[in-house]
Amino acid sequence: MSERLVVVGGTVLTGPDWRPGPRDLLVEDGVIAAVGAPGAFDGADAARHVASGRLVIPGLVNAHTHAHTLPVRGVARDWTLEVSLLHGAWMGAARPAELAELCAVLAGAESLASGCTGVFDLVSQTGGPDVAGLHAVARGYERVGVRALVAPMVADRPVHDAVPAIGACCGAGPSGLAGAEIVRRCREYVTTFPALRLARPALAPTILAHCTPELASGLGALAAEHGLRLHTHLAESKPQALAGADRFGRSITRELARLGLLGERLTAAHGIWLDDADRELLAAAGAVVVTVPGSNLRLGSGIADTRALLAAGVRLAIGTDGANSADALDALDAARLAALLSRTGTHPPTDWLTVEEALDAATTGGATACGWSDTAGQPPTGRIAPGHAADLAFLDLGSRAFTPANDLANQLLTAARAADVTDVMVAGRLAYRDREVSTVDLAAATARFRDLVAEWHERHRPAREQAAAQARAASAALATLRAAPWPTDRLLGGGQPGPPP
Ligand SMILES: [Zn+2]
Repeated sequence: MSERLVVVGGTVLTGPDWRPGPRDLLVEDGVIAAVGAPGAFDGADAARHVASGRLVIPGLVNAHTHAHTLPVRGVARDWTLEVSLLHGAWMGAARPAELAELCAVLAGAESLASGCTGVFDLVSQTGGPDVAGLHAVARGYERVGVRALVAPMVADRPVHDAVPAIGACCGAGPSGLAGAEIVRRCREYVTTFPALRLARPALAPTILAHCTPELASGLGALAAEHGLRLHTHLAESKPQALAGADRFGRSITRELARLGLLGERLTAAHGIWLDDADRELLAAAGAVVVTVPGSNLRLGSGIADTRALLAAGVRLAIGTDGANSADALDALDAARLAALLSRTGTHPPTDWLTVEEALDAATTGGATACGWSDTAGQPPTGRIAPGHAADLAFLDLGSRAFTPANDLANQLLTAARAADVTDVMVAGRLAYRDREVSTVDLAAATARFRDLVAEWHERHRPAREQAAAQARAASAALATLRAAPWPTDRLLGGGQPGPPP
């Protein structure tokens, strides 16, 4: 017996045209079976979800986040990416599986509240991949009812080595597991992944310069063997771009291509310090770039040229990053920031991201980044159309954001806020109802999270203090890198572009 539901009375707004209209939906077993005129399914033997006064949109996808950083929200004030990486060892420090799971539960709950139905989560675990902890993260998303790709975010080189200027100030970084052992653990993670309705595994060589070629290639082979997505941080900061060019003798993107990692399976986050040739390679490979505008501003990393990416033919998605640099896991806000930041620089208004492009990136773009548009046996997400998963967000058309209702798509992107989201459905099941998470006891989960995080902070205080000392020691060298000439300038007002490396 199939699970049937009709969604009635709503104003549906979806790509590709993003033109609103009154539509009813018939949902069967979590999949949109039909879209019809109001009343079209009135005779159906099905449960009813009344959406009168609601704007019904495809759920947003947060294509780059890190639930494991939830315990460190607000800790960073003036950190750049490199300082954040120096603090990475304690931010990813060991924790009980219960805390790992609660991080995902709370990150999932926060995601739902901004109309987000799916996330790509990269989990860093100091000491190397811990399979039980990774499975706990997947279970956390499953419990709260959010679709998730969960990837161990791994490295076998510390930032002291990846950015030699840091090593010169701070000495050698901590040595971790060898690449082969990391790949072995990732294989165990993937092959023992529990059977879950909404969560699936992926792999994340975190930053290419932090991975030996053996580790990067080993993960590429494992991903190919199991048909998994690969996710990496690409050309996020100027020091990374400089160090990458020094180490590889070519851009990071060209090194990804040389290692055979650049392909349709690759999702690359940030993509700020890219040149035309990089963008052409990414486009030709069919890779997805996730722009992460809030985090890029927060860490002073620069501004991604989303227009140049789209013009080159690169597929674009949007992410928030983790709570350490996001700082709110607000997918709606990330979409708005991505649209607004395309207006900086000298691009004329005709080059700015259109409303439709931004909303596509936040929905179908995210689905592509997560492989939810092409996974055999799984309905695609990101559109309200027959055959697509019933991943839906409902917004209050009576709110100030939509009053008066002049251009609902534009108002969704520019005026709407998370508080306007009333309900969220993932795979046909309501996970957020009347602005409350309906799948878990959020108050109890939050109370337990607070207790466990307090203990965890206490235990890792010495490592945190050591990281802060190293950040102070490296600050002048990092400032020099930030000011170094570079062919592309993505720091607005950051000086003249320099000659090619
Ligand atoms: Zn990240």
